[in-house]
Amino acid sequence: MTETAHIILKSGKDQSLMRYHPWVFSGAIKKTKGSFEEGDVVKVYNNKDQFLGLGHYQPGTIAVRILSFVDRPVDQSFWKEKFRQAVDLRDKLGLTDSRQTNVYRLINAEGDGLPGLVVDYYNGTAVMQAHSVGMYLLRETFAELLREIMGRRLQSVYNKSAATLPHKADVERQDGYLLGVSPEQTVKENGLSFRVNWSEGQKTGFYIDQRENRRLVQSYARDADVLNLFGYTGGFSVYAAAGGSRSVVSLDSSRLASEMAEENMKLNFGDKIAHEVISRDAFDYLREGQRQFDLVVVDPPAFAKHYNVLPNAIQGYKKLNRLAIEKTRPGGVIFTFSCSQVMSRENFRKMAFTASANTGRQVRILGQMSQPPDHPVSIYHPEGEYLKGLVLQVLD
Ligand code: SAH
Repeated sequence: MTETAHIILKSGKDQSLMRYHPWVFSGAIKKTKGSFEEGDVVKVYNNKDQFLGLGHYQPGTIAVRILSFVDRPVDQSFWKEKFRQAVDLRDKLGLTDSRQTNVYRLINAEGDGLPGLVVDYYNGTAVMQAHSVGMYLLRETFAELLREIMGRRLQSVYNKSAATLPHKADVERQDGYLLGVSPEQTVKENGLSFRVNWSEGQKTGFYIDQRENRRLVQSYARDADVLNLFGYTGGFSVYAAAGGSRSVVSLDSSRLASEMAEENMKLNFGDKIAHEVISRDAFDYLREGQRQFDLVVVDPPAFAKHYNVLPNAIQGYKKLNRLAIEKTRPGGVIFTFSCSQVMSRENFRKMAFTASANTGRQVRILGQMSQPPDHPVSIYHPEGEYLKGLVLQVLD
């Protein structure tokens, strides 16, 4: 590719870009000029020859992810500026020099003007996930840039994109270190410790987006019998114990996750805490078990990744929440979440309404939860707001 190729949109399909929505859908494209392939930077125009933006091309539903709404070269200084802005926000949030927390999201894709790229920071290690070939091809450049900007705060960079790249991407996908090596790390979040294993763990290794919600659980946990469903490596369990819970059950269908939950509880409290781990399907456990709890966390994986399966997913959430409410003692509290992007806040609340109504019990809302500010959301890209939750109290 010599000169930057052009993509011209159909009439009327320029509106969302003019409002800074960063995606061009393949159906909006009228014609193209010049040759380009996946991962290349292309310029996008409307059918009146007006420049709209430039970004990475990717064959598929989202054809272009916009990097800039002004016409400028996408070179080293471009990336440096974007990365610096991302780090500046985390500085402002007090995350980069905190004694209490050394795990946070450093780059949150669209929310940081870098669609297709996620970087999480784990006490000296950056774990990178590319969702587009354009970002993936730049991984070495990005590793160097991170080192330059983060300085002594960064010892290693791990690329974990094999599972996040588009299925059909024509690139060799292999996870591994781009810089330094540190197979795992103990991180601190709000003063609590967690072992994180990014090569074997889910996502980049830890659900950083639940940091503030975990703290909220801590504040509700005094003297509570706690059930942490879909507990993964025990994030909510550790906070509940820190908040003075009477007992904690961590349940996850993954044995590896359950082992890590046990390890994380020991790391923080030794043997002082009454903790039980259960490797089992959450629905089976709720259906068959008789035990009642004062605090239940319901944090399942995304039941719906696409709109076409949303109705089924909503049924799944309803059933799950109904069962969880049934297991809650009068006065007890449920922290219930959905991380499905396609499930709106409104739908989530309706779901919780129906689940509550189906139990016949009195339920009220004590709080609404979301994702923390190191997971920023562009106001023009509401799809970036995926995490939503409710604190429900079951009254009788
Ligand atoms: N609450 C966790 C993150 C949960 S991720 C935290 O704060 O870290 C979702 C978890 O659900 C995964 O660990 C996955 O192994 C588990 N899971 C998926 N399906 C399940 C099922 N049917 N029953 C129990 N656990 C399940």
